[in-house]
Amino acid sequence: MHVHVLGNGKSGSGCRITSRWWQRPFIELMAANIGLATSPGDPSLDELYVERLVYWVRDSTLERAVILACDDLHDETGHRFPGLSGLYVPNDYVFELSRRHPMFIPAASIHPARSDAIAELERCIEAGAAMLKLLPCVQAVECNRATYKPFWERMARLNLPLLAHTGGEFSLPTHRRDLQSVETLRLPLECGVNVIAAHCGTPALPWDRDYFDQFEQMRNSFPNLYGDLSALSQITHLRTLDRLRKDPRRILYGSDYPVLTTALWSRIKGWIGEPAYQRIRSIRNPLEKKAQLTLALGFSDRIFTDFWGLAPAPHEARKGKREELRAS
Ligand SMILES: [Zn+2]
Repeated sequence: MHVHVLGNGKSGSGCRITSRWWQRPFIELMAANIGLATSPGDPSLDELYVERLVYWVRDSTLERAVILACDDLHDETGHRFPGLSGLYVPNDYVFELSRRHPMFIPAASIHPARSDAIAELERCIEAGAAMLKLLPCVQAVECNRATYKPFWERMARLNLPLLAHTGGEFSLPTHRRDLQSVETLRLPLECGVNVIAAHCGTPALPWDRDYFDQFEQMRNSFPNLYGDLSALSQITHLRTLDRLRKDPRRILYGSDYPVLTTALWSRIKGWIGEPAYQRIRSIRNPLEKKAQLTLALGFSDRIFTDFWGLAPAPHEARKGKREELRAS
């Protein structure tokens, strides 16, 4: 339930991408990891990216993948700042991809400060959105603002889960370091939204603050707070992984594709044996590599399917939610 799509929009997808010079080597590493031989300015980038992703899902033991839209940064008055969030993926693009490829499940992205936020939310649910994705520290979403309460209440009533980035961010520019904590998700939780704290508040870089203890405390007090395993495999993630292996309550599976997975640290920690390490290391498919590492770390199969408990199958969701919209 955490797979990124991206593009430069040169073939009409509506996507935008802006990267900083220092990110170049990491972008190249990620591109090589997913088998994408192209440049950021290539007019066929968007199409090639999707083609590659379709190939990897088909070639994996995963059946479907939730693909994420990404809204622009907005200020609290609803003013939009295109380009500042590094990545823009329109809601309509993930809907179109999901129509073309039934293996994809669309997740919309709507900054709640937008003047059309609730209307767009309803439109996206109608179009089959199974989740809402936000990156509070990147898109400047202060989820606890009282003015956003009607938006969260609407989401809760429509039973749409929120996937929100927590902890350090590496791939996109952080504009609001103060919005990395799990505490910033309190208002949507209080409004009854099923909230998935992506990465469980884990640091991305060694100097990032660790919000995992806060995640644990809030997981105990909010039965509607979930976490995901997306991106977690690197050295800065070991403390979180160790704790989650011991207590995997309400933890969902996500890859954070195209982010790299490594089995090395799990091997060094002694969590996986040499044969498992060699087997996982040799898996070329990035989606399958992460899935196999997750199983080798002792997480149960349930972790891959529990998301369905939060978001019903898209066609059922559309039907049920349409009726709900009509009734309200
Ligand atoms: Zn992500």
